[in-house]
Amino acid sequence: MDFGLDGEQREIRDWVRTFVRREVAPLEQEVLRRERLGQPGLTRDELKELQDKAKAAGFFGTLTPQEYGGMGLSAVMAALVEAELGRSFVPFRFGGYADNILFHGNEEQKQRYLLPTISGERISCFAITEPGAGSDAKAIRTSARKEGGDWVINGEKTFITQGNEADFVMVFAVTDREKGADGGVTCFLVDRDMGWKSEPIQTMGQWGPAALVFDNVRVPEENVLGEVGKGFHLAMQWIGQGRYLLPARAIGSCERLVEMALEQANNRVTFGQPIASYQAIQWMIADSAVEIEALRWLVLHAAWLVDQGVDSRHAQSMAKLYGGIKANEIVDRVLQIHGGMGYTRELPVERWYRELRLLRIYEGTDEIQRRTIARNLLKGHAKVTGSLG
Ligand SMILES: Cc1cc2nc3c(=O)[nH]c(=O)nc-3n(C[C@H](O)[C@H](O)[C@H](O)COP(=O)(O)OP(=O)(O)OC[C@H]3O[C@@H](n4cnc5c(N)ncnc54)[C@H](O)[C@@H]3O)c2cc1C
Repeated sequence: MDFGLDGEQREIRDWVRTFVRREVAPLEQEVLRRERLGQPGLTRDELKELQDKAKAAGFFGTLTPQEYGGMGLSAVMAALVEAELGRSFVPFRFGGYADNILFHGNEEQKQRYLLPTISGERISCFAITEPGAGSDAKAIRTSARKEGGDWVINGEKTFITQGNEADFVMVFAVTDREKGADGGVTCFLVDRDMGWKSEPIQTMGQWGPAALVFDNVRVPEENVLGEVGKGFHLAMQWIGQGRYLLPARAIGSCERLVEMALEQANNRVTFGQPIASYQAIQWMIADSAVEIEALRWLVLHAAWLVDQGVDSRHAQSMAKLYGGIKANEIVDRVLQIHGGMGYTRELPVERWYRELRLLRIYEGTDEIQRRTIARNLLKGHAKVTGSLG
């Protein structure tokens, strides 16, 4: 058993750490200032400029296979990279990414959708959730009916990340109501100029998703992604592509938050002593450090299973569940240690408090992760003894 990083892993991790410290973190005050004014923290051009800087140093498409110009990093490496990015709240991500299901497209679809998404010319979004169907994704009602050589899509999607900015959507619609999710849902690649509309949704976080409306949107047959009726399987593949990466990012955020708490605890004096001398504060710090460490290994273990090519869904659910709960407890403690200042918008703690709340909701709520974990155990698909048997 080896819990260490090899030379290459350490080199890549350290490169990202330095990049975040030198290029990303210095933007934090400006990002906070803009967000307080209701503006995006980074403009699209600024994000691209940062991504180009990273690309010039060879950092592009962390998870994209090398044959598509990416780095094709392992899942473990991707988790380590994501944790470093999480150390800053600046909404930065490396360029060169494309949704995993776009790699299932035919040659023409790859030219029109996959490659321009990797290069950053086009922006995609993934739309399954509807006002009446979130956790219960099989209950979607958006329909697609065949008319001549085209499909005609009608329905509404909600909470779609990047839905306001996207040039095209991977939308899931019912093509055979009787079969439903089991052979009756199809995924369509639909350009914005085919007629769907988006409306921003205000949230407590900094980035707003969108509601999408499809009102008799005509889509040619060649825009079916994969096979007609096989869309639900693709949707589950998209959702499962990197669940471990969500709590991975939270590791970095929590590290940064606890570092802020340590500084505050050492510097803030009450009743003639630094608050660090009080056991109440020490316990909050100790619990947070233990939980970050536990989360790190849950995430890295889930990522390691992904790299082994074995079923990692149980481990990924555990990492996502634990990460969501613990990151929220940690940010709450760090806010508490900062007292009234923690509650203000002078510091980024309240921003992280709002942002991390989402981790317990999207890509499977806490309750849905628990349901998955319990079902796996009850049906004997997983053991409490873990992957060591
Ligand atoms: C900011 C943001 C971005 C998002 N991005 C996308 C996106 O890009 N694309 C997309 O398709 N969707 C996206 N979503 C949707 C997200 O995946 C759903 O919100 C999530 O799956 C929960 O669905 P719901 O909101 O309908 O809640 P519901 O399913 O209505 O759940 C309500 C409550 O009931 C609980 N619950 C539901 N079923 C059970 C059960 N069986 N047992 C116990 N408890 C249960 C839930 O855990 C929750 O607490 C996004 C959401 C947000 C907030």
